[in-house]
Amino acid sequence: MRSATEQSAIRDLQLKKLRAGLKEVLSTNAFWRGRLHDVHGWDDFERLPLTTKSELLGDQNDHAPFGTNLTYPLDGYVRLHQTSGSSGDQPLRWLDTRKSWDWWQRIWADHVYRGAGVTAADRVFFAFSFGPFIGFWSAFGGAERLGALCISGGAMTSEQRVRNMLDAGATVLMSTPTYALRLADVADQIGVNLSAAGVRTTIHAGEPGASIPATRDAIEAAYSATCFDHTGMTELGPTGYSCSARDGVHLIESEFIFEVAADGELIATNLGRWGMPLIRYRTGDRVVVSREPCSCGSPFMKIVGGIQGRVDDMFTVRGVNLYPSQVEDIVRRYSEVSEFVIEHRRERRMDEVTLLIETPLPGFSTERLEADLRQALGVRLECRIVAAGTLPRYELKSRRIVRVIE
Ligand SMILES: [Zn+2]
Repeated sequence: MRSATEQSAIRDLQLKKLRAGLKEVLSTNAFWRGRLHDVHGWDDFERLPLTTKSELLGDQNDHAPFGTNLTYPLDGYVRLHQTSGSSGDQPLRWLDTRKSWDWWQRIWADHVYRGAGVTAADRVFFAFSFGPFIGFWSAFGGAERLGALCISGGAMTSEQRVRNMLDAGATVLMSTPTYALRLADVADQIGVNLSAAGVRTTIHAGEPGASIPATRDAIEAAYSATCFDHTGMTELGPTGYSCSARDGVHLIESEFIFEVAADGELIATNLGRWGMPLIRYRTGDRVVVSREPCSCGSPFMKIVGGIQGRVDDMFTVRGVNLYPSQVEDIVRRYSEVSEFVIEHRRERRMDEVTLLIETPLPGFSTERLEADLRQALGVRLECRIVAAGTLPRYELKSRRIVRVIE
């Protein structure tokens, strides 16, 4: 356990920030005024209701376009972003004030980049489109705040990104884990040796990959770099980072209150985004946390092995519950596999799961992969090779599981 003094200092800080922020929220924020009561101690906090994404979407539908979770008049806000809608939901809009935007960037600079050893001397390449999704902009702003040289990779093909990264002498790559591997494939095709390119650090978010050992190994081998994970959500803020120990993700408890529900779902309350705050928000991410001390010296608890998956991403094969991340950890050990998707069908009331894989090698046999999957997961997953280029590529979150209803 981390020391009792450390733990109680964090708890005191959280309660102090919460009470100060709630005062304003309870007086002017229509969304929260009817739901919350004032909080004096932790007992009061634990009696506050949980909040879901569908409540937020419903509120924005009923009170378009921004909903009622607004603590200030609209002219107090300086940024509008929205969720990627990758789960098939309508996008959720989120507004930031100058102060809450500063909060985002400070967390990036002080925790996420610092945890990965990024400094003002680095050149950070952002392999993103710079659309309305907040992650790109907050990561960019945070690196600028740190004093690093920030290089936008927006509106470029993968090949242009590879060349740009090299020409500019980038030392840090920011992307999803899947897209980092995609860039490595493209570099290979055009005869560029990325492992000699000078990228020494890669930081990833959007998918659990950077905490999945096989995926991390594949990225590190391709770039000769050290690979770090980061967690965050448009509606919450940047919640976690991986440190030098790289066995999980520290949750930034000085800026959020985190709770874990009985089924493992992470619940979070932000403590620095009072213009549009979230109190006891159900993230939909399933986690296992540890309060053991970390070799990096951080007082924050850690999500062991990163986010296991989305609560609704779990699938069942012959009575065994599985997450896409467990499958990914096996598949990524095969450098011959360039992309994969888990197809989940319900046939005659039975769950049938097939792994669709792309490989550039014409003679590749799935036999050994199937045996490895069976041994690691305890169930048989059929693998099927599909034509190269047929599976979707995502620059944002990859959807690893596809449900087919018949
Ligand atoms: Zn640590």
